[in-house]
Amino acid sequence: MKVRLAANLQPDSIVDGEGVRAVVWMQGCSHNCPGCHNPITHDFNGGFLTDTEDLKRDIRELKLVDGITLSGGDPMFQIEASLDIAKFCHECGLNVWCYTGYTFEQLLAISTKNPKMLELLQELDVLVDGKFVLAKKSLDAQFRGSSNQRIIDVPNSLKSNRAVCIKKYEIKDNIKNQLKQEEVPIFI
Ligand code: SF4
Repeated sequence: MKVRLAANLQPDSIVDGEGVRAVVWMQGCSHNCPGCHNPITHDFNGGFLTDTEDLKRDIRELKLVDGITLSGGDPMFQIEASLDIAKFCHECGLNVWCYTGYTFEQLLAISTKNPKMLELLQELDVLVDGKFVLAKKSLDAQFRGSSNQRIIDVPNSLKSNRAVCIKKYEIKDNIKNQLKQEEVPIFI
């Protein structure tokens, strides 16, 4: 399956989720968060096209990683490729984190129209959700850029039909920020 990437598989990150992680940098994002740290990943025709089978070969060769992180760009703009990669990672015994500019609630709404979105959510262990908000940029926000973004336990959230944040990553104003989360237009 075709996938558009911003970079080759990064085998060794300690800032894109818990433990040592390999990062898949997906190309394409239209959230346009002011202050985005990675604007080169926005263009849907940028980066390079490859095949998920090639990526799987690289993932199979990884050693000593705890899991895979889907980042970008926004992996939610390539639902089927993200699903294919996430499924494969689980088959290999790797946990899957995913970053997105959408909120968990928006993704649930999308999944009522697009069953592949629900399938993708079912293949994620952790979702880091929401746009990067420059005014809420925080050094206390581990594994994310701004305090409005949540680190969500996806299996528990799907069971409870509401976003369940992972307690150890919660920061003081996170709950208030969830309620005030900026509206993000749905493009999918
Ligand atoms: S969602 Fe992420 S990649 Fe997209 S504009 Fe916002 S910070 Fe940048």
